[in-house]
Amino acid sequence: MIPWPGNERIVKGLDFLKSVNRGEKVKVGKRVIIIGCGNSGMDAAVGAYQMGAEQVVCIDVQRPAAFQKEIDHVEELGGELIWPVFTKEITAEGIITNAGDLIKGDMVIITIGESPDLSYLPADIQLERGYLKPAGDLSIAPGVFTAGDTIKPGRLVDAIGAGRQAALAAQAYLSGGVYVSEDKKKIPAARLKTAYFKKCHTCDLPEAKDEYNRCISCGTCRDCHMCIKSCPENAISRNLRPDNGGFEYVVDPDKCIGCGICAGICPSGIWAMYPNAEAIPMYKTV
Ligand SMILES: Cc1cc2nc3c(=O)[nH]c(=O)nc-3n(C[C@H](O)[C@H](O)[C@H](O)COP(=O)(O)OP(=O)(O)OC[C@H]3O[C@@H](n4cnc5c(N)ncnc54)[C@H](O)[C@@H]3O)c2cc1C
Ligand code: SF4
Ligand code: SF4
Repeated sequence: MIPWPGNERIVKGLDFLKSVNRGEKVKVGKRVIIIGCGNSGMDAAVGAYQMGAEQVVCIDVQRPAAFQKEIDHVEELGGELIWPVFTKEITAEGIITNAGDLIKGDMVIITIGESPDLSYLPADIQLERGYLKPAGDLSIAPGVFTAGDTIKPGRLVDAIGAGRQAALAAQAYLSGGVYVSEDKKKIPAARLKTAYFKKCHTCDLPEAKDEYNRCISCGTCRDCHMCIKSCPENAISRNLRPDNGGFEYVVDPDKCIGCGICAGICPSGIWAMYPNAEAIPMYKTV
């Protein structure tokens, strides 16, 4: 439930993005306000420009959590990000802030607080903070299995991996067998079909119209810079590759202390820590 007066004027970010993604011509205002400066907010901002908005302003209560590259994309299109801004009311003129300022806008899209709608489930199904809490075989009731964002918001590859485990568990349930969890990170190379994915290993920002066809970085570096920013030893650098116009991230083994922060923070699973005397993270793909 969105708490502010005037909330009936708000367009839900996922509804907006789904319509744009379906190729519909969504009517947007001239001046669009996006509440939430995460990656979904940046997607919505790009979508608003694609649909013809003249100016997009993204607001947040805290420093934007979106990847820098996504922010750059919005700013390159003319968008503005402002924070900290606390919404008090939504009116026909825009957003009134707690500080009493008016941020002008004729359309407001919200991209925060998305969670699965599980209200249709029986009351005895256990929820934890609005998400399902399945058993080890991903079941929530006898013969009912779940996966993906109903358990925890994550990446598409996580959802696909969990979906496969749920399918194996369902097969075991139906055949009277025993479900044995696979190591979902081990995908046989022969099963990977790169033809399904658009390559995006260049440094160019996509046109707004191409945003909805973009690569989702499952297993490839999305150039978000988070590892560089997080490394306490400044051990990671980003090099341009003149041979193919792309880039690569490399670790200086003389600086790396093997803390594993880069491996933990990378949204694309690029870094892997190998237990050895020096515990140097290995860059797996370029
Ligand atoms: C704006 C945005 C950008 C993102 N960008 C990336 C990215 O770049 N890279 C990345 O890896 N991940 C990204 N993600 C996350 C990724 O999309 C999700 O983690 C992933 O789609 C989760 O898959 P899922 O199968 O759990 O859920 P979904 O993909 O949401 O699929 C759930 C399906 O179930 C259907 N459904 C809902 N309720 C019912 C019901 N009661 N009965 C039957 N069907 C139902 C829905 O209609 C939907 O088709 C992004 C997410 C958002 C919102
Ligand atoms: S493991 Fe090494 S490269 Fe990664 S964050 Fe720690 S010091 Fe930096
Ligand atoms: S390696 Fe991971 S954290 Fe570093 S820039 Fe690429 S996707 Fe981002």
